[in-house]
Amino acid sequence: MVHHIKKCPKCGIYTLKEICPNCKITTISPKPPKYSPFSRLAQYRREALREERERDELI
Ligand SMILES: [Zn+2]
Repeated sequence: MVHHIKKCPKCGIYTLKEICPNCKITTISPKPPKYSPFSRLAQYRREALREERERDELI
């Protein structure tokens, strides 16, 4: 199960609650970065690994 983290737009703290415990205002979902070099590298590694495995099966 994934907990969606929220962020208070006023004080900037991260919380899992809908209401900021400090400011008592509604928290917002921080936008995930569009470009993530880390996850892209992970995906590239997975693909490279799969290709290698397929090549091994062909031999
Ligand atoms: Zn706050």
